[in-house]
Amino acid sequence: MNTKPRTRIFYDDDYVLESELETRTKAEPIAKLIRSENIPGVELRSPRKATREELEEVHSPEYLDGLWNGIQDLLRSLLASTGGVLDAVDQALIDGFSGSLSSGLHHAKRTHEEGFCFINGLVIAALRALNVHKLTDIGILDLDAHCGGGTFQLIGNDARVRLADVSTNSFDSWKSFELRHHLKVVRDANNYLNEVEKALKHLSGVQFLVYNAGMDPFEGCSIGGLTGITREILQRREKLVADWCRENKVPALYVLAGGYEGPNLDLEGVARLHLLTINEFVN
Ligand SMILES: [Zn+2]
Repeated sequence: MNTKPRTRIFYDDDYVLESELETRTKAEPIAKLIRSENIPGVELRSPRKATREELEEVHSPEYLDGLWNGIQDLLRSLLASTGGVLDAVDQALIDGFSGSLSSGLHHAKRTHEEGFCFINGLVIAALRALNVHKLTDIGILDLDAHCGGGTFQLIGNDARVRLADVSTNSFDSWKSFELRHHLKVVRDANNYLNEVEKALKHLSGVQFLVYNAGMDPFEGCSIGGLTGITREILQRREKLVADWCRENKVPALYVLAGGYEGPNLDLEGVARLHLLTINEFVN
């Protein structure tokens, strides 16, 4: 029997901070669930740390100085979770799929943190695929409830990168007249999966996908949630994206993005939503 793990997911206890905010805490319960439920074919791995040089590709030296001179636990978390995204780029190009339990990426701007996001790992990942692996056509799919205005600011002018952003809330929205850019803010849950399909069509032909797999469109999340977006819809969404990658032979990496507690949703419930992504992307 072949027991070789088929999907490597990057995670380290350094990702986690003591915080009120799910963005900095939820990786731990997700890792626990992966271990305790022994999801077949998934192996957790500790990543390397990202370097300051890698962060400087998208963030200003002054902003990074502030992080380097600031709270050291936060810096440790950011370097570990960005390192995980970078390792997942390399691993996805070997195995087909990989992931990192990183979140808090897509609102980060060149000079500042925004909307719980400090370092834009999505853009740093795309740059690694372009500059280190010499790919020339990359897609970034952002299905977080909120728009990825940080990603657009940082890589919107790169003709080698196509953006597809389907949101349920206009926070951090962006505008472009370029055909390679696609943004849709969905207001009616009945249209959601249809818009995800359109976004995937927009990405036809990319050589590599960076997927920001937010669970905050879920109706039970108190930040971002849209009535009618159920767990079942999100499960179908993850299957759509993973099947699209398989059918089109597109290597992909995913990260967690948003996902928040609500009146009837505790942190374990949030973690279980993120497992939907992991389950659909097992190679
Ligand atoms: Zn969000």
